[in-house]
Amino acid sequence: MKYINIFLIIILSIFYTAKCWSNQVNLYSARKEHLIKPLIDLFEYETGIKVNLVTAKSSQLHQRILREGKNSPADVLLTSDAGNLWKATDENFFQPIYSNLLDKRIKPKFRDENNLWFGLSLRARIIVYSLDRVKKEELKGYEHLSNPIFKNRILIRSSSNVYNQSLIAHMISKYGDEKAELWAKGLVNNFARDPAGGDRDQIKAIAAGIGDIAVVNSYYIVNMLNSDNKSIFNSLGIYFPSDKKMGTHFNISGAGLLINAPNPDNGKKLIEFLTSDKAQLIYAHNNFEYPVIDNIEIPENLKMLGKYEEDSTNIYEYGKLSFKAIKLADRVGWK
Ligand code: FE
Repeated sequence: MKYINIFLIIILSIFYTAKCWSNQVNLYSARKEHLIKPLIDLFEYETGIKVNLVTAKSSQLHQRILREGKNSPADVLLTSDAGNLWKATDENFFQPIYSNLLDKRIKPKFRDENNLWFGLSLRARIIVYSLDRVKKEELKGYEHLSNPIFKNRILIRSSSNVYNQSLIAHMISKYGDEKAELWAKGLVNNFARDPAGGDRDQIKAIAAGIGDIAVVNSYYIVNMLNSDNKSIFNSLGIYFPSDKKMGTHFNISGAGLLINAPNPDNGKKLIEFLTSDKAQLIYAHNNFEYPVIDNIEIPENLKMLGKYEEDSTNIYEYGKLSFKAIKLADRVGWK
């Protein structure tokens, strides 16, 4: 009897430990905590699964996962930009996710071709311009930004930033290596100054008269419109670049399930949850990003940026071309 009791205690303790283990998920997130917290709170509330959140820059999480190797406790890596997601797939970080729900909800253009990651929110890389110094008719898509009429007028951050690497990669996929390089060369010739600061700083530099046209991510504009900086938009216009060949460049934030995930089922549940209507609403209303799912109501301040024509390129293509894009930027002297 004594032995049976000990046996039972051992079995129960194993079961209990396993149960605790199965009720959590370890999330490595390159998204800022305040952006992701409302989503996590709702997921925990609805599923009873505890989310252990580690937040750091994308490059730091990348290094950490490499360092931890097979012993990494990470289940899900959440990061922004197809370039960062591609770097993770290039290191074999992810395992494919077999999910009818994700297959149904996420369009192929917003996920990895082998289902190694799924897009969760969208951002457009668009133009803010001076209403006094630029006529709207002068703006004709991305390619046209290399035209000498814009000499000393363009503001854009460094090419070391993944947003620009993805934009260059998109140009390569659209126009081929040579034409994309000519474009980048022309663009650099049109810079109003050496690249400095982040996207918000480019917008402020128009207001300060340093340049006329800034290339920035859409959510920064909404964030500034919601802040004390709102008044600078009285003299600024917003334009979604698009021409006959190329629509507006969109990028994503997304997530993948790690190959050594200790809690793969919970990791999959978390990623599925992030595509739910409720989660997509939070992305739109808290982060001012566009949903990856159609027919989700977006807030007024996102609507007022304007209508756009999204380019047809699959977003995973940007990642594949990112190394080429970095080298191209170096060759044309885009700092
Ligand atoms: Fe950003």
